[in-house]
Amino acid sequence: MPSFFIEHQNVFLIGMGLIIISLFIYVAIISYKERKKMAASKALGFVILMIICYGGLSILEFHYKEWVSLAFIIGPIIKTIVLFLPIRGLSKIKSDLPQGKTDERIIMFSRMRLEKDSDRFKSYYQDHPEHLESDNEFRKLPGLLKEGSINYDPVLFGASDASFFTVDQLHQAVDGPVNATIRKYQADELSRFVKKWVKKLGALDVGITELKDYHIYSHVGRGDDYGKEVELNHKYAIAFTVEMDEEFTELGPKAPIVMESAQQYLNAGVIAVQLGQWIRNLGYEARAHIDGNYRVVCPLVAKDAGLGEIGRIGLLMTPKLGPRVRIGVVTTTLPLITDIPTEDKSMIDFCEQCKKCAHVCPSDSISLEGRKNINGVNRWQINSDTCFNFWCKVGTDCGRCMAVCPYAHPDNTMHNLVRFGIKNNFMLRKLALWLDDYFYGKIPVVKDLPKWMQLKEIKDE
Ligand code: SF4
Ligand code: SF4
Repeated sequence: MPSFFIEHQNVFLIGMGLIIISLFIYVAIISYKERKKMAASKALGFVILMIICYGGLSILEFHYKEWVSLAFIIGPIIKTIVLFLPIRGLSKIKSDLPQGKTDERIIMFSRMRLEKDSDRFKSYYQDHPEHLESDNEFRKLPGLLKEGSINYDPVLFGASDASFFTVDQLHQAVDGPVNATIRKYQADELSRFVKKWVKKLGALDVGITELKDYHIYSHVGRGDDYGKEVELNHKYAIAFTVEMDEEFTELGPKAPIVMESAQQYLNAGVIAVQLGQWIRNLGYEARAHIDGNYRVVCPLVAKDAGLGEIGRIGLLMTPKLGPRVRIGVVTTTLPLITDIPTEDKSMIDFCEQCKKCAHVCPSDSISLEGRKNINGVNRWQINSDTCFNFWCKVGTDCGRCMAVCPYAHPDNTMHNLVRFGIKNNFMLRKLALWLDDYFYGKIPVVKDLPKWMQLKEIKDE
């Protein structure tokens, strides 16, 4: 052991102790700001533990102290280096391309609109008798945003309804006449403009892909065009994400989750409609795909536009916020430069191990198993029947899975460092899972509604 180290070991110990303590103080401050009191108090617990360990060690004198000091000084450095080395361990994971088109009529949002004994109702269940029994179950329940549901609140459900109402007003503007004068610009300049402007309008991330066959629904499942074959001959699709507010999302399945879903469907809808109109002004076709009026499967478009992967919940998992986003899409003939989808196998690997969403799901709708071959594609599929039944009981779109996902933490340096490590190193992936459970709880508790949301109705005498 060099005499220089033995003489100055206490200085090194205090230095390393201060670095680690500062790190945990930083974690405590960020957690407190994020309203995660449990995480903040656990981080403060570590601060105290580190003061005891490093402070005590620098004061005490005992045999072989220099070796123990060395371990306390070098150990954290070696661990950090090892955990951030690019050792991905992802060779076994394969991604498949989806095959064939989806009929929008079979998705739950279309089935829930079928009115009993109507022609559409009869025709649908004649073709799909396998759905009748389970669909009759949700029809016995109060329903989404309905009085009698567990989380019914006229003020908060009314706010959600107001946002959905406004989205509905945008349906008439998803398409429109195209300017007869065609303006020509370089595709790369147009693509750059689209990305900068859409972010300026409030999007989190934007990507461009060629529109593929499997992106497009085979038949319309909602509205006046119900049952018609979808005709969409656009070459490109612009996909973008908007952030779901963390505070509202983590209150799901209480009313704020559906307030926030509706608000972000509206925000995505406004951006998509504006973008579509701008493209038509330049003389090219464009169609916005917004809530209740889609002709494409948005998560598949967004994945191919390089915005993320499809995870265990079957939703788009973005690198910065996981599933805590909503998606908007505009398809168009405007010449653009496409993005190369960056396949992030670390997300699939993390989902394979994590399963937090499956453990918290109140209706056990999320599989705890590995990906399965579904119609030729290796993926997870949630049980949308049981999920939707739960929505119809509570009256909201729940979102518990989205809220607890370790990827869904805010976009800041602390969480981005963990997300970088998850992508880069298989050991950090395991450590991140453990840390998430430790700091935020394996099954996090849903907090109470903030006071400003708790209105007392005045009843007439
Ligand atoms: S909670 Fe875990 S398993 Fe579920 S989507 Fe998020 S990372 Fe994947
Ligand atoms: S939204 Fe709720 S019920 Fe549906 S899968 Fe997610 S956690 Fe389960």
